[in-house]
Amino acid sequence: MYEREGVTCVEMRNSLVGKVYAFIIDGMLVDTGPSNLEEDLAPFYENASFDRVVLTHHHEDHTGMAPWIMENRRVPIYIHPLGIGRCSQDSPYPAYRKKTWGLRNAFSALPLNETIRSKTKQWEVIHTPGHADDHIALFDSETGTLFSGDLFVSRRTKVIITSESVPQIMTSIRNILTYDVGSMFCCHAGYVSDGKAKLTQKLEYLEDLFAEVEKLYRRGMSPNEIDQKLFPKEYPISPISEGEWDSIHIVTSIVKEFKVESEHHSLHSSKWDKY
Ligand SMILES: [Zn+2]
Repeated sequence: MYEREGVTCVEMRNSLVGKVYAFIIDGMLVDTGPSNLEEDLAPFYENASFDRVVLTHHHEDHTGMAPWIMENRRVPIYIHPLGIGRCSQDSPYPAYRKKTWGLRNAFSALPLNETIRSKTKQWEVIHTPGHADDHIALFDSETGTLFSGDLFVSRRTKVIITSESVPQIMTSIRNILTYDVGSMFCCHAGYVSDGKAKLTQKLEYLEDLFAEVEKLYRRGMSPNEIDQKLFPKEYPISPISEGEWDSIHIVTSIVKEFKVESEHHSLHSSKWDKY
């Protein structure tokens, strides 16, 4: 655990993915950590000073302790409206994730609005889909502080999960970069002093990747061939997750953009062919 700029950074370790974080700022807990760390986290949460919880998205490494908090602290827990249904189910995710993060029991969350107040601050709630469709970031325009959930994680993304979309992540980062971002609190990288620079670097990496995939796809390469060429290395998480994490999802999420485009074209041409 460490403090930066008035933010308590609760650092947790996980054998599969390394670090994961929850944060406390101004009486507000941002994300909760996974349920399999209950033994360590419960004594801390019992005494920690917060009167509300905001979840950046529904994934179990962020929400696992929410049922414990609901039962023991009785404070409101907020999430984007799209996440409420998923949080009302017991562990709706695959077995390897249950092993990695523990079982996340059902809990009831309240819908986030466009802003949320902590004790003394007003936070903008910015919908940033791509990593998950219910993903949000919290921004304080007075200080430039950003809680970025899993929008950043690392500068050079090599594997993503099936449900992620690189084009959507790019749109969300572009949106965040219209705000005057200062320091960033990332749920896997922790405190990042130059949030704007790091997000810009990530966007540039993804833009280059996007352009490369587009070029190879238009030359006639299949998504699998593009994947082999751009990501020749297999990452240990791919077999462990039975393919839920894989570089191919980066490629297919980009290629989807051009498929939509070409379907539009063929729709038009077939319409005209009739005449
Ligand atoms: Zn996540």
